[in-house]
Amino acid sequence: MPRSRSRRPAERRSAPGRTPAPRATPLAGTNVERDRDPKAVLLDLDDTLVLEESHAMAQIRATARLVGVDPYVWEKAVISNARGAWHSHELSDVCRELGISSWEGLWATFEGCHPRLAPVKDLVETYRARVWSTALREVGQESVRDGDLVQELSRTYVASQRAGHPLAPGARLLVERARAVGPIALVTNGPPDVQRLKLSQTAMAEMFDAVVISGELGLGKPDPEVFHHATRSLGVAHDRAVMVGDSWERDIEGALEAGLRAVWLSHGRPAPKSDARVATARSAGEVVFD
Ligand SMILES: [Mg+2]
Repeated sequence: MPRSRSRRPAERRSAPGRTPAPRATPLAGTNVERDRDPKAVLLDLDDTLVLEESHAMAQIRATARLVGVDPYVWEKAVISNARGAWHSHELSDVCRELGISSWEGLWATFEGCHPRLAPVKDLVETYRARVWSTALREVGQESVRDGDLVQELSRTYVASQRAGHPLAPGARLLVERARAVGPIALVTNGPPDVQRLKLSQTAMAEMFDAVVISGELGLGKPDPEVFHHATRSLGVAHDRAVMVGDSWERDIEGALEAGLRAVWLSHGRPAPKSDARVATARSAGEVVFD
């Protein structure tokens, strides 16, 4: 059973040269219990291995310098307009199901998409122009008539997102520990092009035996078939796999529904419910597997 060292202070978790934590106590010595040990690990990407939402918000705030307004006022204007537009277009239900966010719609190319999602390519340019221009109007910038500024805002945001995402604290340690368990799969919701780019920028892509992306599969977490697709790809029974992720609804409830066990990265949030099949860790570096 996976467990976490949740009492370890977060600010000390990555200190170099620290004595490794003692190994977890084995569940038991019998073959029956040993047979319950996890044999494969599925890992979420966004806000599990890389910082995603906070990074996206920071990059939106960074574009405020082009507009000359308070970055937080600007972030609020951009995000509120992005959400409104993203959840009202003709493919919004598919995007919601596949877990593709409004701010991903501001920079993804949507190349390599499943046919269910592919038509979104035809509407993102209009979507982006609408978001940036409406946000400009909302903060009282008459330059909304200046199409060059709208284009510059969009280009700047896309370039900053494509430049890379910070690794989550302890992410590499988590992946190394997962590999010590058995084969590992990345199981992530998002557009294929941005998820594959983010993974490649972690320099850990070669460590994964399988990569499952909702935008490619045409199904998203928490659909149990997503988890079963991953365990089949790894060649393990789904009840021998454990899912690690930060979304209770998509990662944890989905994994449990699929018959897996799970580790929830709480980032300090209280668990919505208690479940013996779920271990909780505050961050990636605190997850250990017995
Ligand atoms: Mg996540």
